[in-house]
Amino acid sequence: MSTQLEAARAGAITDEIKFVAEVEQLDAELVCEDVAAGRLVIPANKLHLATNLKPCGIGRALRTKVNANIGTSSVRSCVEAEIEKMQAALSAGADAIMDLSTGGDLDTTREKLLALCPVPFGTVPIYQVIEGRDVEDIDNNIIVEIIERQAKQGVDFFTIHAGVLKEYLGLLEGRVAGIVSRGGALLAKWMVYHNKQNPLYEMFDDLCDIMREYDVCFSLGDGLRPGCIADATDKAQIAELNTLGELTQRAQERGCQVMVEGPGHVPFDQIQHNMEIQERICGGAPFYVLGPVVTDIAPGYDHITSAIGGTAAAFYGASFLCYVTPREHLGLPDAADVRAGVIASKIAAHAGDVARGLKGAAERDKRLSVARANLDWKTHLAESLDPQTAERMHDEVCREMKNLGPSTDYCSMCGKAWCSVRTNREIREATRLRRSNVQAPRRI
Ligand code: SF4
Repeated sequence: MSTQLEAARAGAITDEIKFVAEVEQLDAELVCEDVAAGRLVIPANKLHLATNLKPCGIGRALRTKVNANIGTSSVRSCVEAEIEKMQAALSAGADAIMDLSTGGDLDTTREKLLALCPVPFGTVPIYQVIEGRDVEDIDNNIIVEIIERQAKQGVDFFTIHAGVLKEYLGLLEGRVAGIVSRGGALLAKWMVYHNKQNPLYEMFDDLCDIMREYDVCFSLGDGLRPGCIADATDKAQIAELNTLGELTQRAQERGCQVMVEGPGHVPFDQIQHNMEIQERICGGAPFYVLGPVVTDIAPGYDHITSAIGGTAAAFYGASFLCYVTPREHLGLPDAADVRAGVIASKIAAHAGDVARGLKGAAERDKRLSVARANLDWKTHLAESLDPQTAERMHDEVCREMKNLGPSTDYCSMCGKAWCSVRTNREIREATRLRRSNVQAPRRI
């Protein structure tokens, strides 16, 4: 029994490596090499693989992936609502799901979601460690018990905030937003109360043993990520990143797959630097970023602020984007928010892939553009990233303007006489006729 990393290091092309290579239309040897080098992860708990998981790779050689966070809170907890959100995320094209539940029966919620989840499924186990008890009361035994319990349920990747060290808390003094990560803030409270080091850091090697046994992938959490652009790329964030680099190496040496989480709120001009330092410090381990959100002033539209940052992140070095919904900072998202967040993040991921010249990425754009130029509405809508919305909008227009239909060669945006696509077709036809020495119509 070995992890994907250990198998790849031994030169073994696992079924999961083969599957990822096929989906991404890459050579399996190349995928295997990247897994062995720690540049690519396949978060696939052996127990989830044995049931309904379709493996998914995360790394720069591959298409940029998108994660959707769902989960209950202490204010609102309903398993059916979370299943509805997960299905909304999957139908919109989410590549992974994270269950961040903190309310209700966490084990049952996770079990029901996992049973219906065909993509990598992640959690933040420290939430369950803390849930139902004062944070001051947690100890190593509770941490190990919860992490093992979740690994046995089949969770594919764990956010572990092991890089939030006691000595970094003093670096937070000048911050505007302090610690915005829930796990980071509660662990900091524990460290201040006990005047001891972060237990996740102290017991990291033991955690590696559990992760290795089930091949749960580390997602090394950025508990000190900036929560506003004024705090971006500050000393606390970079200090934690250095520790994440050290932990990446330690976990990989123990056979565990690792990705690293990143900011957060970052102004656009700092994104490239953030991607480059993570790659250098963490040896090319896949970077999983939350957004990044490029301005703080758009509550209600943070799926857009994060898609702007996500595009730059995907271009400069991230492999995995965590979506942000329009309701970020305002409340728990519903299924419609989840859908909007996934679509925004998919746009960012794809735009980044096109810009970095990922093989095949722009082919879908070309197919859609050819259909658009040919006024082939059926293909145009089918090739779109969100056919459901595109079709609904076009149908609404067709209904509103009774003379329009799916085969009409213009739409209500410009109208027949002003439709430049239609005019272009007429020009092309007239040019073709003239080339063939056929009299083109005097008026085209
Ligand atoms: S009417 Fe305008 S928007 Fe509609 S197809 Fe023609 S050019 Fe495009």
